Amino acid sequence: MALSNIKETPEVTAKIIRLTLKHKWTLSRNTSAFKENVLIYLRYKGITGYGEAAPNVRYGEEAHSTISKIESVAPLYAEMDIFKQEAIEKRIKHEISDNSCARAALDIALMDWLAKAQNIPLYKLFGCQNKQIVPTSFSIGIDQPDIIKKKVEEAADFQILKVKLGGSNDRQIIEAIRAVTDKPIRVDANEGWKDKHKALDIIRWLKSEGVELIEQPMPAEMLKEITWLHERTDVPLIADESVKSCGEIPQIQDAFDGINIKLMKAGGIQEALRMVAMAKKLNMKIMLGCMIETSVAISAALHLASQADYIDLDGHLLIQEDPFSGIDIVNGVLQIPDKPGLGIYPASV
Ligand code: MG
Repeated sequence: MALSNIKETPEVTAKIIRLTLKHKWTLSRNTSAFKENVLIYLRYKGITGYGEAAPNVRYGEEAHSTISKIESVAPLYAEMDIFKQEAIEKRIKHEISDNSCARAALDIALMDWLAKAQNIPLYKLFGCQNKQIVPTSFSIGIDQPDIIKKKVEEAADFQILKVKLGGSNDRQIIEAIRAVTDKPIRVDANEGWKDKHKALDIIRWLKSEGVELIEQPMPAEMLKEITWLHERTDVPLIADESVKSCGEIPQIQDAFDGINIKLMKAGGIQEALRMVAMAKKLNMKIMLGCMIETSVAISAALHLASQADYIDLDGHLLIQEDPFSGIDIVNGVLQIPDKPGLGIYPASV
């Protein structure tokens, strides 16, 4: 690298990227054909740390406000000690309290930079391992039965399917999948069921169809109803929208068997690690999840995978052209990169 490119103080830059989805993505709350995320670069001493924000409408986030938040704190990096990651996280949280994906992008870039500076893979930076991990589930979006059949065929390499329910034709969707495969299915209702009795009925039916867990059966604000459900079913219930960060976990422990940890909700890797520790302390299962993301944010989560009971890191597989490479898949198992930092690199280079 030319000497003039070597930054003497840490510099953060950001840009919006448009990710076209392989299939239109339908959840119980909305449908989309593309996703806008924010990529960030932390440059210092000839090393570039990559970060990514995946804004989520559920949490009032979108790409333009997210990049504004990142740019508003970028000048602070010139005056902070880059090796004090906890102090940086605290300062950034103080400045950006209302946009967790912006904080996640900054924290991922910092961790990537720190691991690269030590020439070690990210998982080693926080004492995780690169052991054999559980296979990832692969998401099948809500669609017409003939399209669902095609999606299941496209998921041939994956051992576990994740299905988005919470609409009006849940049974038809499961029947359409069961007509073509007997693979284990995980269901994400995305807060779609509003009546606890109907939710219990469908959960009992789903169990008979070989569904192994249910994510976020009812809206986060219906915690009492979810606790009621939890007392009446032995299908594991996993919290997603009900839990963003570590401090919220104890409040939901009677309603759920486990939590879905996503870097974008947590605001980064450091908070995700605290969530892992808290979930273990409370004997709750750990799922590692994602939004629609490139290999930047997916690999950041993947480096925590040795801590997870369930892995749902398929966001980079749902986009047409991932601008980054470096995550291999063997029999539906994502391989934790062993190169320095996140271990991913721009795909065009
Ligand atoms: Mg979910």
